[in-house]
Amino acid sequence: MRKETLNRLLNMIYPRHCPVCHRILKDDKRYICPPCEKKIRPLTGSLCMKCGRPVEENREYCRECLTAEHTYDRGRGIFLYNDMWKKSLERFKFYGCREYGDFYSHLMWEEAKEDIRDWNPDIVVPVPMHPKKQRMRGFNQSWYLAQRISRASGIPSKSDAVRKVRNTAAQKQLDAAERKSNLNGAFAAVQSMGGRCVLVVDDVYTTGSTIDAMASVLRDAGASAVFFLTCCIVPGPGE
Ligand SMILES: [Zn+2]
Ligand SMILES: [Zn+2]
Repeated sequence: MRKETLNRLLNMIYPRHCPVCHRILKDDKRYICPPCEKKIRPLTGSLCMKCGRPVEENREYCRECLTAEHTYDRGRGIFLYNDMWKKSLERFKFYGCREYGDFYSHLMWEEAKEDIRDWNPDIVVPVPMHPKKQRMRGFNQSWYLAQRISRASGIPSKSDAVRKVRNTAAQKQLDAAERKSNLNGAFAAVQSMGGRCVLVVDDVYTTGSTIDAMASVLRDAGASAVFFLTCCIVPGPGE
């Protein structure tokens, strides 16, 4: 059967939904419905040279990055996290709307490909999930995104480069300092990174504690540089 026919058939049985309004996508080539496509605002213009948050034109770094010491080199998110993306990501992670991940990863690559080419990573690595949690959820959303970004970019991905060795408390209710200590010893690199440049992929960047913890173990394992790419980034404190 031709791939197109198969896709059409699959779309009839399991219709794909718009990641914003959740209406059924009638055109199987679309990732998002036309009205919602007009609504979404990928981050452009002046972005923080560390975390990629929007900054005023004459500023290089956001307020948070001026004082925070991040272990990663640089990175960016595609959308500013808000209620709309919160709902969308929840449906992706907890309610089986995996096709949303195709939209996120498509935009993550399309919007950030110039940055990614500049960073020139050798390998794409997802933020791992503890095996117990992954069994409950059924999939690791970061791995889903990393795999697709790897396919689009041609950069190999390695899902098991880093493991989550400690099942940590949810980060949601914690402040920046608590988030950091909550992740102490939570990740372990499984193999040597042998001087490779790594692109870490996750769904949301909040305070950067997860990416920093990943960057620490990757550097200890010999990574030459660690960049990150996320679908969303939470606005900085006071911004
Ligand atoms: Zn829509
Ligand atoms: Zn920043």
